[in-house]
Amino acid sequence: MALTIHVLDYGDIELEASFFVLGHNCGRVRRVPVYGFLILGGAYPVLVDTGYRDNAIMESLNMRGLQYHDNMIENQLAKHGVKLGDIRYIMHTHLHIDHAGKDDQFPMNTTVVLNRREMEFSVSGIMYPQYPKPDIIHLVERIYEPEAVRFLDLELTGAEEIIPGVWCEPAGAHTEGSMNVIVETAEGLACICGDVIYDINDQIIDHVRVNNWMEPQVTGNHSSTKRAEKAAIKKLLNNYTFLLPVHDRPARVEHGQVVGRPGMTVPGPMVETLPKRDWFPA
Ligand SMILES: [Zn+2]
Repeated sequence: MALTIHVLDYGDIELEASFFVLGHNCGRVRRVPVYGFLILGGAYPVLVDTGYRDNAIMESLNMRGLQYHDNMIENQLAKHGVKLGDIRYIMHTHLHIDHAGKDDQFPMNTTVVLNRREMEFSVSGIMYPQYPKPDIIHLVERIYEPEAVRFLDLELTGAEEIIPGVWCEPAGAHTEGSMNVIVETAEGLACICGDVIYDINDQIIDHVRVNNWMEPQVTGNHSSTKRAEKAAIKKLLNNYTFLLPVHDRPARVEHGQVVGRPGMTVPGPMVETLPKRDWFPA
């Protein structure tokens, strides 16, 4: 079975730069993409994250949405010959405003896979504005339909398989219930890692505002400890060949080091290769 991940472009967002890397470029506006991930080649087409509802909802966080016609989820899926109703499972890395905004466009027999801890966290009031009411209310409505939601308890069970070759595991960072989605590809394991990493370069390759070598930088937007954030990033670098964050281009990893950046298909040819660093073990 050869599973392939296609990066979907749901439109950019603009927000204050220190959100992405702790204390970095405070007060400056930064524009980043919002991606989703279509996994093809398996038992069913499955999707990871659905982007933000519309440009207006980003204003509620004093952020700017730049979602255009081409970025609409149905148009992004159509580029791969897939319709909304073809998607069997939607997995959410977490439920923030820019990740779960289009679930109400999918029929109730498309199963939304949620880590139960993230659902609880989303209605806890902590990080409240990042969990907008219409998105969360819709998910609550899905709970009352037999096939519309599948809850995972990843902190207790460990990894759970969704379709052969695709499984979820607890991320241990960003939000209390964030999960990673792991995909078995012909070139190794790929990890869709949500917002555990925002910026591959500034947090890992040329990690800014960090004194110690091999110490990843954390984001400016997280709910647990800085040690947990760093450990979650290290775990990603230790275990996976490809990392696919939601707000940055994919990366290829070898021996704990980012060695290249593939394009919008993983596995696929590198569009950029990076020099090997002597500060990582070979
Ligand atoms: Zn995000």
